[in-house]
Amino acid sequence: MSDPTPALADPEVEASTDVASTNADDIALLARVQAPEGEGREIPDAATRDVIGRAPVHTVADIDAAVARARAAQPAWDAVGHEERSRLLMAAADRIEANAEALARLLSREQGKPLDGPNARFEVGACAAWLRATAATELKPEVVVADGQVHAELHYRALGVVAAVGPWNWPMMITVWQVAPALRMGNTVVAKPSEYTPLSVLALVDVINEVLPADVLIAVSGDRDAGARLTAHPDVDKVMFTGSTATGRKIIESSAGNLARLTLELGGNDAGIVLPDVDPAAIAEGLFWGAFINTGQTCAALKRLYVHDDVYDAVVEALAGYAAHVPMGRGLDEGTVLGPLQNKQQFDIVDRLVEDAKASGGRVVLGGEPATDLGELFYRTTIVADVSDGVALVDEEQFGPALPVIRYSDVEEAIASANGLDVGLGASVWSSDRDAARRVAARLQAGTVWINSHGGVHPLIPFGGVKGSGYGLEFGVEGLKALGVPQVING
Ligand code: NAD
Repeated sequence: MSDPTPALADPEVEASTDVASTNADDIALLARVQAPEGEGREIPDAATRDVIGRAPVHTVADIDAAVARARAAQPAWDAVGHEERSRLLMAAADRIEANAEALARLLSREQGKPLDGPNARFEVGACAAWLRATAATELKPEVVVADGQVHAELHYRALGVVAAVGPWNWPMMITVWQVAPALRMGNTVVAKPSEYTPLSVLALVDVINEVLPADVLIAVSGDRDAGARLTAHPDVDKVMFTGSTATGRKIIESSAGNLARLTLELGGNDAGIVLPDVDPAAIAEGLFWGAFINTGQTCAALKRLYVHDDVYDAVVEALAGYAAHVPMGRGLDEGTVLGPLQNKQQFDIVDRLVEDAKASGGRVVLGGEPATDLGELFYRTTIVADVSDGVALVDEEQFGPALPVIRYSDVEEAIASANGLDVGLGASVWSSDRDAARRVAARLQAGTVWINSHGGVHPLIPFGGVKGSGYGLEFGVEGLKALGVPQVING
């Protein structure tokens, strides 16, 4: 299959016509999932702050009932076997494609990401691609000893009920990352999307459920208390969690109660190290999308950039020159490829970190302020040079469109800085010498190190963090193993 790497997506892809207004398909999709008039919680359009629709607010009793239904459905789902489950996941991918435009438009409004570029249409396309790739991946039993006397095989059986709890930045794609391997392995799933982006995920699940048997995949909608109830539920066997490190710690604590197995994809603060031999003009585009994909609201985005003194000024200039021409605006508007922050809380974090960097002597090369002309939650594409470790914009996860650039003169310093924080999701090394880059890569404490790109993911390549970025792997065969319980057959 083709690599849906964000860095390879073309930000100039053509927009469809008549994108600005809500159309009949959008209304029909929303009607399938939203709460009745007068009920639920109003969800704003991230760009305009107009109300899009009403998300149901499920109670603890609703969540308990959902887990009970998923539990009851699980044995039959397990019994249908791998071939039939794969066929149904492929069919689900077809249904996503049949509804792709309405799904992308809902996602664009609720999350804020534009339709074009590596954004809403891209995310919906990735959902279908991930379902197909997961459906096509086989986890075969492994013969561990066969010496004539002993014959032992390692199999992976379904775990039971999986809780899938996700964030608001790539809500549809991350739900599929959690749900597809869980279903493939014969588990049933209760998914709880972020309270900031529930409608997108409810709609996606509704579309997938056009082909799945009842209660195999259930979406519930609610806030952090709903997430806490679901992940601590005594009848949940596994939690797939993507979100902040703080919430991850709470889920680890609650897993002492239900002994749920955990896959935790948590926060990051990915470093990029630019070696002195690069061609600054050649890497500017890759650096930009590594840092600013989804307007910087990406777990494994480049969040602090260490550049060698020899090329520092040229890299900053080339990056800022590229960034200055990337259009930001309302997601449904043609030609836009950067959007707003998704919520006020995240906007305030970005604003605070940039103001602090300025006060600490950082040099604003681009942006450096809210884009109030575009809307309440827009922040200009921002590059702050001449900062150092210890400044909050470097040390804390900004999760928005503001990249700090730090000068170094000895690569040992850059490696120490990259490894100096208590997170380790991704990292990147930029060089025209692949071997030199790989030597640096081997010394970085991160789940993935990219060379001359940052943040691209692939459904067959394992992905996961180290240190405060969590544990467990997603994607490919390793991802399937994480959704199964090992069983040895000896004899
Ligand atoms: P968050 O932790 O606040 O919320 C994530 C989800 O957890 C939401 O659905 C929320 O309702 C739920 N939740 C909150 N409290 C809970 C509790 N006590 N028990 C169970 N569930 C609970 O995170 P967020 O603000 O939505 O996401 C942003 C963070 O996620 C960033 O730090 C980012 O780096 C990280 N992230 C990581 C990855 C990755 O793959 N590693 C991907 C995307 C985002």
